Amino acid sequence: MKLSLVVPCYNEEGNVKRFYEETVRVLGGYRDSTLLADTELIFINDGSRDGTWKGLKEIYETSPHHIRVLSFSRNFGKEAALLAGLRASQGDYTAIIDADLQQRPEYVLQMLDFLEEHAEYDAVACYQEERKEGAFMAWVKSCFYKVIDSLSDVPIAQAASDFRLLRRCVVDAILSLPEKCRFSKGIFAWVGFETYLMPYKVEERTEGESKWNFWKLLRYAFSGIMSFSDKPLIVSSVLGIFLFALAILMMLVVVIKTLIWGDPVAGFPTLCSLLLLLSGVQLLSVGILGQYLAKNYTETKDRPVYILKEDLGK
Ligand code: UDP
Ligand code: MG
Repeated sequence: MKLSLVVPCYNEEGNVKRFYEETVRVLGGYRDSTLLADTELIFINDGSRDGTWKGLKEIYETSPHHIRVLSFSRNFGKEAALLAGLRASQGDYTAIIDADLQQRPEYVLQMLDFLEEHAEYDAVACYQEERKEGAFMAWVKSCFYKVIDSLSDVPIAQAASDFRLLRRCVVDAILSLPEKCRFSKGIFAWVGFETYLMPYKVEERTEGESKWNFWKLLRYAFSGIMSFSDKPLIVSSVLGIFLFALAILMMLVVVIKTLIWGDPVAGFPTLCSLLLLLSGVQLLSVGILGQYLAKNYTETKDRPVYILKEDLGK
């Protein structure tokens, strides 16, 4: 198999058929006419609650091409779907592409051409030339990437999306990471390999709606930071040391002031603000610690990342 397309689908009933038809049309028009016959499409139905599964089954039953459909027992999230898809993929090249046609299949061919011409690169990642989302979301996302990039030990390409084409060696490297809390952008960066950034134009979503909102993104962001950096733990220790030094200094000032000038200490406001500050910092530190513990807890439970309910085309 030359090319595998991994397509996560969650409530995409209006898109899967169109995606399939468009992809077959585009791949069929490639200058190498054998490509389509040498391509597998791996759809992952991530616990959709609409007609996605029915649509995928129809595609599987009527398609003359290589189709694999994995279906989860419930919604496990895009990261889990990607993992399942990468595990199933057999191609020399594996593309990750959304089912909603916001990412045109033509770009997969462009990425393929690039990797075939440039042996020194192992992966191509697409980035949006201009972001189509609202100014607020764009700002939130760019802040998050700045924070995680500065915290993480490996540089995480800010703009790069999950829309990628990977050589076999990269897929194998990604699959060799056993962790359960999977943050793809971090994992792509962590495994290394030469990655070329290719600009692409994101299309409008015509059917269904985006599964991301502000709170989901925030949760994803925190999980990403905790998975790829231990610096927040250092931050809380540094803060602790700083406050300790400050407290000693303040005590000295108070003692000296009382001894020399006999000043009565203005109590209540000082006490109040100190108490608030210190308990805030303590809670923050305990919270950070708790987040790491929670991650550890999830990893040691060693539950599978997803549960497969159906597997067509194995
Ligand atoms: N997706 C998924 N599981 C989820 C959420 C999303 O498999 O829990 C899929 C979704 O069907 C789509 C892709 O991930 O193919 C990207 O999702 P979406 O289009 O909502 O994200 P956006 O393009 O708005 O960033
Ligand atoms: Mg989308």
